Amino acid sequence: MFKAILINKQDGAQSVQVADVDDAQLPDAPVTVRVEFSTINYKDGLAITGKSPVVRKFPMVPGIDFAGVVEASKSDAWKPGDRVLLNGWGVGEGHWGGFAQKARVNAEWLQRVPDRFNNQQAMAIGTAGYTAALCVEALVKGGLTKERGEVLVTGASGGVGSVAIALLAKAGFNVVASTGKASEADYLKALGATSIIDRNELSAAGKPMQKERWAAVVDSVGSHTLANACAQTKYRGLVAACGLAQGMDFPASVAPFILRGVSLLGIDSVMAPSDVRKPAWDRLARDLDIAAIERISKVVTLSEAIGAAQDIVAGKIRGRIVVDVNR
Ligand code: NDP
Repeated sequence: MFKAILINKQDGAQSVQVADVDDAQLPDAPVTVRVEFSTINYKDGLAITGKSPVVRKFPMVPGIDFAGVVEASKSDAWKPGDRVLLNGWGVGEGHWGGFAQKARVNAEWLQRVPDRFNNQQAMAIGTAGYTAALCVEALVKGGLTKERGEVLVTGASGGVGSVAIALLAKAGFNVVASTGKASEADYLKALGATSIIDRNELSAAGKPMQKERWAAVVDSVGSHTLANACAQTKYRGLVAACGLAQGMDFPASVAPFILRGVSLLGIDSVMAPSDVRKPAWDRLARDLDIAAIERISKVVTLSEAIGAAQDIVAGKIRGRIVVDVNR
């Protein structure tokens, strides 16, 4: 038996609880992992609150991430004792996920935890941090250099935003953090932001073309914020779009793309192939300050994860929440 958070749905009503689950109920897959840590991502918040139809079958163990140790493997790729992590692949949505003491998954969904991180630190990074690294990789691959000017990070105090600031600052970029939490200015500066703007400057409907300001943008917010960010991006600038914290809509015009040659780069972490994941995790292992990881993270127990998931959807979380599934 092991402990897991289970989401059930009966007569249209969703229930969420910590339950004792039999190993025999684990999905059929070749690698069994003794999970040590998971983490709360925005998508986990949507799954647990039922606010969006993230969960595709019931009962479901949520948790789109985990880090742990291989317990048993029918695949040559892994052996018992290997330290592994998983981000995405529909885990916690259509396949039982990481808010549990055990998981059984496909071999190709797992990655080795970089030596520099312990399993708790790997989950302090989690999908949010790995997505931030995917954004930074996309910008650098697209030709962004420091000489081009300021890089805007929206949703700055969130998981993606916090790690994006740290990675961009470490790479030498001049980072401007857009946040709704003026009280977090010191936190954002400690991560490496050189200046802060109020997110209200970007969140209302704006003109299709505005004064050019940003060499590049990491946007985790979507909606008007993304539209305004594109409208303020400099000639041939780059915008990495990965999130929808403000909304899924994109009320923009094509003007920045066809008149300023701005490129909009879509970032998906869930199905990203391994040749895209690896450089992102390599960047995290190389550039992310372990002290910064600890500074932006807090640990909760499995049962506390339910409330933390509700908080992330309510916008009450700063940085990253790690779930210690054995507490
Ligand atoms: P968090 O909740 O940790 O951060 C989101 C941040 O966005 C908040 O901290 C807040 O920052 C800002 N925000 C929240 N609500 C609003 C609003 N109504 N208007 C403007 N800004 C708002 O989430 P994550 O960082 O984990 O994820 C961010 C987004 O990225 C989510 O939409 C998530 O679904 C998406 N995502 C996408 C992935 C992909 O594969 N494409 C992978 C991972 C995440 P502040 O207070 O500083 O303004």
